[in-house]
Amino acid sequence: MKKPIVILGAGESGTGAAILAKQLGYAVFVSDKSPILPAFKATLEAHGIPYEAGTHTLKTILNAREVIKSPGIPETTEVMRAIRAKGINVIGEIEFGARHAGKCTLIAITGSNGKTTTTRLVHHLLQHGGLDVQMGGNVGKSFAELVANDITNGRTNNPERIFVLEMSSFQLDDIQKFRPKIAVLLNITPDHLDRYDYQMANYVRSKFRITLNQKRGDWLITNADDPEIQQFLAANPEAVHCKMEQIKKNDLKNGYVRVGQKMCFDVSSTSLQGPHNRFNAACAIRIALRLGIDQMTIEEGLYHFTPPPHRMEKVAERNGIVYINDSKATNVDSVFYAIQSMDRPTVWIVGGTDKGNDYSVLMPHVDKRVKAIVCMGLDNSKILAAFQHLNKPMVETQSAKAAVKAATELAVPGDAVLLSPACASFDLFKNYEQRGDLFREAVLNL
Ligand code: ADP
Repeated sequence: MKKPIVILGAGESGTGAAILAKQLGYAVFVSDKSPILPAFKATLEAHGIPYEAGTHTLKTILNAREVIKSPGIPETTEVMRAIRAKGINVIGEIEFGARHAGKCTLIAITGSNGKTTTTRLVHHLLQHGGLDVQMGGNVGKSFAELVANDITNGRTNNPERIFVLEMSSFQLDDIQKFRPKIAVLLNITPDHLDRYDYQMANYVRSKFRITLNQKRGDWLITNADDPEIQQFLAANPEAVHCKMEQIKKNDLKNGYVRVGQKMCFDVSSTSLQGPHNRFNAACAIRIALRLGIDQMTIEEGLYHFTPPPHRMEKVAERNGIVYINDSKATNVDSVFYAIQSMDRPTVWIVGGTDKGNDYSVLMPHVDKRVKAIVCMGLDNSKILAAFQHLNKPMVETQSAKAAVKAATELAVPGDAVLLSPACASFDLFKNYEQRGDLFREAVLNL
């Protein structure tokens, strides 16, 4: 019997990889140590793909010709150690998709914050410009499934077919030859360090893998003012083999994005608010220009863009108080930008599962823009200790409803209430989406 491709993990990426492998005629076996969600089970069954859930049968897995690993599975697991010991080639779903996408144009976007917003914006601008573009990876459908669909429709191997892919550092860890025509590295700030031996340098190296296989004729767009990025480039000038465009803070002033000496894009009346979103817009604009879209079409596209929910999402204005849902802000850096972009006195809702946060970078901005702090978490002691010296009113709550009520009592007309938690949501909520949805519901019920 032919050796199978073994796929570890049956989430979005594993299921997509399984569909593509099956379509290409490989023997496939999917193994997930956890229960598989009913929707993915149904998809595997509909494609006649064998799978196991709740266990890894090593005998079958170690018979693989190649393993496709889901990004959530760390190298430290027993199954990965066994696979590595046997010397079986391991790739991620993105590598597998790219291997079979032929000459399609790949655009890859990574960074600690802003990936989803920028990926969606690039997709939106290119689509608005009439290009043939699909979006996937860490957002929406897996890349492998998109490629499988293209094979079904006879659309692969066409440079005019464009894929915009959001990529996490975990996905970058499992590439080998993946070569994007345009790569974006937005920023690098501490996140997911538990997967990188608590070494920032390992995480930075992982992010830079986005440009690992880029060559002359490709482009890397990155951040001229990001200290981690600049330090890495100074120490490793040989890491980039393609042209590089570095976006400067200076090009993003007063609601404008300047490109070169001549071009200026007005983003002040778009929903891309705050300096971080202007930076995201600058990256997306460069890509659209590079792919031949004219300035007026880009400006129209920017104007009509709706950012994804839970990212500085204006929920409502009630009694002169504006409520903003930034539930996706799960680390300190994203909160830094959120608070910096507040132009009203702000009651800040913060808290959840702490990821080893250092709040000190926030102090001057919290001191200047935040009038009161509402903690929303099971254990708020770290936040209380960090901010008490600012002498602002501080309240503890343990639900979105209670947090909205407390924040409303602390606010007056002209103020804003900002949910920007700096923490993961798992102490009180299923995920950041549920946290944001319950916040929105509580506001709309006021
Ligand atoms: P990601 O997909 O990388 O998590 P998102 O676009 O989902 O990024 O945004 C996550 C959080 O980061 C949100 O709170 C958002 O307001 C904030 N954010 C968006 N872009 C940036 C950026 N360029 N720099 C810092 N924070 C950002």
